[in-house]
Amino acid sequence: MEKIPVSEYNIVLGKITDSLDEYIQQAPDSSLFILTDENTYSYCLPLIQKVVQHRKHYIYKIRAGELNKNIHTCMDIWKAMTTAQLDRNSMMINLGGGVIGDIGGFCASTYKRGIDFIQIPTTLLSQVDASIGGKLGIDFESFKNHIGVFNFPIAVLIDPIFLNTLSLRELRSGYAEVIKHCLIADGDHWKELSQITDLRSQDWAAIIRRSLEVKRKIVIADPYEKGIRKLLNFGHTIGHAIESLLLETNSPLLHGEAIAAGMIYESKLSSRYMGLSMKDEEQIIDYIEKIFGAPPVFSIENTIPIMKQDKKNSNGKISFSLLKKIGDSQWDILLDESQLKDLN
Ligand code: NAD
Repeated sequence: MEKIPVSEYNIVLGKITDSLDEYIQQAPDSSLFILTDENTYSYCLPLIQKVVQHRKHYIYKIRAGELNKNIHTCMDIWKAMTTAQLDRNSMMINLGGGVIGDIGGFCASTYKRGIDFIQIPTTLLSQVDASIGGKLGIDFESFKNHIGVFNFPIAVLIDPIFLNTLSLRELRSGYAEVIKHCLIADGDHWKELSQITDLRSQDWAAIIRRSLEVKRKIVIADPYEKGIRKLLNFGHTIGHAIESLLLETNSPLLHGEAIAAGMIYESKLSSRYMGLSMKDEEQIIDYIEKIFGAPPVFSIENTIPIMKQDKKNSNGKISFSLLKKIGDSQWDILLDESQLKDLN
């Protein structure tokens, strides 16, 4: 078991039964409230049941998927917490992917002005990204993560064993964030990473460890996204807009799939405006297309009104984080609409 400190809390990488036992022992008299979705209820809960079975605990299951990361689900969760008579010493355990971590952390942070919570991320995306850094919240109308708070769990417990039941499509979605971390700040890893094609047969513990280190360093340096943390938005300005645009269509994208497409378009912007070499641009696009296939068909014009709502914009311009080269990036690049023409 490795304990990796992030400001106020630890990420613990290792066997979930050992790490969870240690943390719940720290609050011996409090009730546990375990939030799952329908898939993590079936696939992940059995892996922790032995540890929690001797403790007073409640299990609450929500429907799976991004469409449920909204205020209506929060109300259901707050109601269940109230019915369970959780007090301020109770502890919430968020067992699931980024949706469970975001909404569960948000509900824990607001219930009775905040109770302790543990994140147990069960998707690759949440293990390398969503569970680290304290951003919690929900979508509002068509805007992603529009309502939320910064708050920190008491621990993030990562065990790659959960990935065994994850579909290949979900695994690939999380891999987009692994690629992103490498591109923005870990150029030395690119050669090795870009050789990976078969996602099923990887040493995930090692890949997760390396990838989360990029995010960890960045969130320690800038916990509230005033500066360097904005680098993590590479691929996300256009990616989020594509994700929102397709969310309620017949072919919605997974978060990482949208970010993969976003990284393709933002690599093109990087070569136009940040001096990313054509060679780097080609390598990035080739590799992303090898893993994810060609990006979905959409019109960049239709994403502009969505990008204009982005929290990071300033003076009517859209804010991007772009690459100078593989492994080196810059934030707060403000572009106007006309500079986004002819991207697709
Ligand atoms: P998700 O939580 O919807 O999980 C994806 C799917 O996998 C779901 O159907 C889930 O039920 C299923 N699942 C989860 N674990 C499983 C397992 N071990 N075995 C089988 N099935 C399993 O989505 P995600 O991709 O993990 O996360 C995406 C969310 O994370 C988005 O809402 C995004 O906005 C958010 N996010 C947040 C941050 C942050 O800093 N807070 C960062 C990145 C992404």
